[in-house]
Amino acid sequence: MKTIGLLGGMSWESSALYYRLINQEAGRRLGGLHNAPSVMLTLDFAEIEEIQRKSDWDTAGARLAGVARRLEEAGAELVVLATNTMHICADRIAEEIDVPFIHIADTTAETVKAAGIGTVGLLGTRFTMEKDFYSGRLRKKHGLDVLTPDAGDRTIVHDVIYEELVRGLIEDSSRSVFREVIARLIERGAEGVIFGCTELSLLVGESDSSVPVFDTTRIHAESAVAMALGSAS
Ligand code: GLU
Repeated sequence: MKTIGLLGGMSWESSALYYRLINQEAGRRLGGLHNAPSVMLTLDFAEIEEIQRKSDWDTAGARLAGVARRLEEAGAELVVLATNTMHICADRIAEEIDVPFIHIADTTAETVKAAGIGTVGLLGTRFTMEKDFYSGRLRKKHGLDVLTPDAGDRTIVHDVIYEELVRGLIEDSSRSVFREVIARLIERGAEGVIFGCTELSLLVGESDSSVPVFDTTRIHAESAVAMALGSAS
């Protein structure tokens, strides 16, 4: 099995999920005492959040690409960027390394399409919901119709991620609000909902939606294991 490189810390709450998921998935596939060989480099999310606020994506790209290269030097044979938002820098990272980079939107889109779903709701940070790097990729590369929440709901979702989830705060009141946001996407025609933020599964799950949900953290982690084992992701 190839060694998985995890570019983590965005936030560490979801990096911890990734670490558990890749090891559980390797164990599930291989049995016995198997887990996934991996290396992880963890950035300080305070630094990343400041770069995001300034929309300084060139600095972010250079920083993340440098860390991805260090992962490769440390033995990573494929690289996973453990956040949706920072895939805004995906091209810069992929250019920097000589090992495969698994794009979170691609693995998620393949899973959505395999479920026979064509119209999907997207929840994530403001960057993920509003910028073209993510929904544009789902639309243009994968042919999905993508619905995002209205402006008020986007603010709520973004604020819960930054004020609560990346700090490890899980509030029942926020879960109730998210259920309503999800229900409004479904009313508008969403046949499935992408949890396009790697912390969202800390708060909500399948039982909070009447249509299938697609947890990008799980999908991405399981794709990494599939690729590390040489099977199709
Ligand atoms: N982990 C989140 C994501 O998947 C949000 C934090 C970040 O901005 O990286 O987008």
